[in-house]
Amino acid sequence: MNQVVSFIYAHPDDETFGCASLIRNLVDQGGKATLLSATRGDAGKTGRLGEMTKEELAIVREQELKNACDIMGISVIKHLGYPDGKLNTIDRTELAEQIIQFINEQQAEVVVTFPEDGISLHPDHTAIHHATNEAIFSGRCPSVQKYYYNASKPLEQMGHYPNLRIDTEQMWEMKASALKAHKSQVFSVERVFGEQVTFDERYRYESFVLVWERGTEWPNKQEQFIFDDVK
Ligand SMILES: [Zn+2]
Repeated sequence: MNQVVSFIYAHPDDETFGCASLIRNLVDQGGKATLLSATRGDAGKTGRLGEMTKEELAIVREQELKNACDIMGISVIKHLGYPDGKLNTIDRTELAEQIIQFINEQQAEVVVTFPEDGISLHPDHTAIHHATNEAIFSGRCPSVQKYYYNASKPLEQMGHYPNLRIDTEQMWEMKASALKAHKSQVFSVERVFGEQVTFDERYRYESFVLVWERGTEWPNKQEQFIFDDVK
């Protein structure tokens, strides 16, 4: 099996927060994980690393992401380098074109991104969601067979429950290491996962909603593995 999942996100660390165990799981089973990051996260905080210029932070975050990706098993990282915090000012079609190009380069069978609420309502997250939708539904990514969002409360309120849930318990040390690799983001990591980043029942599962599968919207099925039914 050499099937590919492309993760399309706004900032270095978005993939680690929501998908680290999914990524490790699919790579351990012979799949390939690739990541498109729309910004370098240069408007973010610097944690305990002290003052930095945006350019310095961009370089630091790029290296942190590389370290996290080595832990999770992501083998391809592409940065678009759009300004952090301003992704919603970029022409959506331009952004979608970049996403189409990446997915076609990777020949991805599966694509994963944020739901419309972006989990945190961050405008960059919402922007990458809409641009990825535009890319997938353009009909110009013929390799794609399945398309997922991270599960979210608003999706659930619309009746879209997770189709795929990954239990992080056995992989928690790996996920914690990948999270800690984003050293500049330590305060966000601690806010979500606690100061010790220890396993907790509250964030045991990484959950994903299947949005589209070969022409069918919101397929109603339970899955064990992200490559279920991929041909
Ligand atoms: Zn983010």
